[in-house]
Amino acid sequence: MTFDAAPLEAAPPRVLGNLRIRSLEAFALEVPLGRTVANPVLAFSSSVALLIRALDDDGVEGWGEVWCNFPRFGVRHRARLVSEVFAPMLSGRSFASPAEAWEAMTSASRILRLQSGEPGPIAAAIAGIDIALCDLAAKRAEQPLWRWLGGARGRVRVYASLGRADPALPTLERWLARGFTAFKLRSSGALADHVAVVRPARTLVGDACELMLDVNSSWDPELAIATVGELREHALAWLEEPIPADEPAEIWRRLARAAPMPLAGGENLITAATFDAVLAEGSLAVLQPDITKWGGISGGMPLARRIVASGRRFCPHMFTGAPGVLASAHLLAAADAPDGMLEFGVGPNPARDAMLDRVPDGGTLELGEAPGLGLEVDLRRLAPYLVQP
Ligand SMILES: [Mg+2]
Repeated sequence: MTFDAAPLEAAPPRVLGNLRIRSLEAFALEVPLGRTVANPVLAFSSSVALLIRALDDDGVEGWGEVWCNFPRFGVRHRARLVSEVFAPMLSGRSFASPAEAWEAMTSASRILRLQSGEPGPIAAAIAGIDIALCDLAAKRAEQPLWRWLGGARGRVRVYASLGRADPALPTLERWLARGFTAFKLRSSGALADHVAVVRPARTLVGDACELMLDVNSSWDPELAIATVGELREHALAWLEEPIPADEPAEIWRRLARAAPMPLAGGENLITAATFDAVLAEGSLAVLQPDITKWGGISGGMPLARRIVASGRRFCPHMFTGAPGVLASAHLLAAADAPDGMLEFGVGPNPARDAMLDRVPDGGTLELGEAPGLGLEVDLRRLAPYLVQP
């Protein structure tokens, strides 16, 4: 796989040297929410994040993040995959680029992925390490990550993604007042329960705003096909994961034909081959890969370009801490997706908020000119939340 970064000749001299990795460290965070939140997958009462710090021989550091939201205790397991499998594999080695390191990790863990039956956690660990290495490489090149990836603009549109436990209307009012123009709702239960959430929301935000609904894979496929048309009047910008991602292609095709709105998905898909099959199959009009689950920047950037080239809408899924949010924003900016939007969870996410130094305003996230992700991680501030893997 080639790495779609800016041409080397356009970069300052410092990027031309090899990427020499001195160390990789994993930091597991767990912050109590003070309440229990339930969704169709499970109930949880804490906010977790797994941060990765990469250091090179010159002491330049890069930060990445590994997806670990479900189950919450998975944060510990993935931290150990990083510190006990990949840190020894990469430490002391040199690579021409983060993409080369990504390929090396992917190739070297092939048998482990098969033997352990854990392709997901291993892919997520590799993704988080890759993000850290890309942050580091862009810092060495003294460029913001979006420009290092070949992008022309350092700003992205974001949408407010409501948590399941958030009261919909007051939350919408708050983010509408901040200038947001796109909102994603969640609800559970029968179609009537979803309509009860969507109808007053549409009345509140008006027809000029985009409104989306995420069902988190919770509908019965035949019932979804029979009833999805009843949502037509609410003019949803997309309906997200009405059924599980691994339902047969024929079921997805029937649902897409019956749906009066675009269908969205991708957060529960991993590997380039799977995404390419979904792109070729055609039922999803909105693609939402999560680069902290699979791909990182090195796998995610070429995929983003394929999504945009296919004419689909590229809207990265994101429900992690600050490195994941910023990495996705830089990637989206570099992908130059005409109608792309980044998910920004507005429900409680103390692990993210403890390290994110900016909240998007006016419905956009400005990435600025700071090198790499533009993120300073203060471990002293995070110390109360660090947990032992
Ligand atoms: Mg979703």
